Amino acid sequence: MDDKQLRILLVEDSEDDALLLLRELERGGYAVEFERVQTRPAMKKALASREWDIVISDYRMPRFSAPLALETLKESGLDLPFIIVSGKIAEDMLVDAMRAGANDYFIKGNLSRLIPAIERELREAAERRIRRRAERAIRQGKMEWEAAFDAVSDLVLLTDLYSTVIRCNNRVIEAFNATYSDILGRNITELFYGSSDAGESVFVQCTDLRLDDGDVRFPRLTGWYKASCFPMHPTEHEHGFVYVIEDVTKRKKMEEEKELATLELLRSRQALKENLEEMKRANMELGRLNAAKNTFIGMASHELKTPLTSIIGGLQFLLHYSGLQMTPEQKEMMESVYEGVTQLRGIVDDLLSISRIETKGFAVHKRMVNLLNLCREVRHTLLLPLSERDIEVSIAEDTCSIPADEGFCRLVTRNLLENAIKFTADGGRITISGEIVSLDDLLPRADSLRCFYRDFPATIAGHPAFYRLDIADTGIGIPPEERVRIFEKFYGVGDIAYHSSGKTGFMSKGSGLGLSIVKGIMDAHGGMVWVEPGESGAGSVFSLLFPMDNTCVIPRREGER
Ligand code: ADP
Repeated sequence: MDDKQLRILLVEDSEDDALLLLRELERGGYAVEFERVQTRPAMKKALASREWDIVISDYRMPRFSAPLALETLKESGLDLPFIIVSGKIAEDMLVDAMRAGANDYFIKGNLSRLIPAIERELREAAERRIRRRAERAIRQGKMEWEAAFDAVSDLVLLTDLYSTVIRCNNRVIEAFNATYSDILGRNITELFYGSSDAGESVFVQCTDLRLDDGDVRFPRLTGWYKASCFPMHPTEHEHGFVYVIEDVTKRKKMEEEKELATLELLRSRQALKENLEEMKRANMELGRLNAAKNTFIGMASHELKTPLTSIIGGLQFLLHYSGLQMTPEQKEMMESVYEGVTQLRGIVDDLLSISRIETKGFAVHKRMVNLLNLCREVRHTLLLPLSERDIEVSIAEDTCSIPADEGFCRLVTRNLLENAIKFTADGGRITISGEIVSLDDLLPRADSLRCFYRDFPATIAGHPAFYRLDIADTGIGIPPEERVRIFEKFYGVGDIAYHSSGKTGFMSKGSGLGLSIVKGIMDAHGGMVWVEPGESGAGSVFSLLFPMDNTCVIPRREGER
């Protein structure tokens, strides 16, 4: 059989006595580890230095004693059996030592009971240790449970069978702004409702599991709560309930806000619907008025055109063919009348064009047109003002024809050429050129084109190629912020008072309809029009983009086979 391990702290001055004791223990089947001390500091040090199973102490030593050794052991806080093994001592001393906590006493030379006593003491010490550990665990558990009980955000109350509050957590104390003792012993209904009248109390509905599922209010608390009830069975006879009362005010508020928001949303949806209908009605009315305006403008212009043509014919006859003798003043006046009426006819022509373009169902009639040849024809009609103003118009050669409405193309190129002349100072230069381009050629300038056509390139997608006509002048240019707006109806850049009258004079005043007519016609062709500054940053380049289809005869470019 293996020896039992025993670690003894021996408080003994006599080495011989110590040896005797150790021998006794070894005889009893113990493998002993020991340290012998004879003073208080040495004992203190030994207790602190390692673990011991038992302390065996002589009663009287030159520099120490059993009572002092017992005191030292107690001070250390260790729970070790303390056995006195001594020579003869007075009985009262012994009684004192036993009272002070010594576990047993033996006379040196009579140690027959020592082994069973040590075994008993060791067993009891072990039991004490286990008990202490269990008590510590219980205390710790209780503390943790209480901390958790107080930490929950819900109000937790324990009642006995008769609804008397027997415990509650801190949240209850805070909610009622009271003390623990104010709450303890109160009837739970009375606590929450202010009276013990059970009438509307949720606590009297307590069943085995939960209270009514709905949210409740308590007269003595603000906000909304949800109460749950759980039966408690501490003993068979004496049971009570645990009430967990959750503060649901925030959730309730959110629900109310959500409900309000939904209501508000429904209301604004309704309002939006009504506004939309109103807008639809207004839009229809606007469409109707616009159509009426177009009809009116069309009719009025048409009616004006005939007398104007007669007046112009009459004036031309009087001025150039009648041989009428006029003083220089009379002639000047007549010429000025002629100029005014011609201008008026221009405006009437513009109004007629715009009313046509804006009329529903407006369509262009395409046939193959050589745009550069058309520009040469238009230039021909403007030779007089061009030479008066000393403006050179150079037009590139190109044999390419594209599908377009010839009459409208003439109007477009005429408007652009007249504008180029009007806004170019005497001695300037206008260059007209054309080329076939693909969508890929246009993409690098997509950002600037999107200013004119928000949906570019979707606006013109689906065509194999395009014909681009550029009319570039060395004129006054257009400020960047005006470039898009000039295509609006009646829009003119800068103060209109600075414009002079006339169709081709420098800075002549026009109707402000020319470019909107150009845009309307290009839209009808499924094309585009835009303006950019000239190459050197001066002047303007107006570009027209006509879609080409597969029927177009596309001449080969130089170098292409
Ligand atoms: P208008 O009859 O006044 O010429 P448009 O619609 O043809 O009306 O042109 C609108 C405005 O755009 C003009 O008043 C002018 O300020 C500006 N504009 C048009 N073409 C040019 C150009 N080539 N150079 C400078 N400004 C121009």
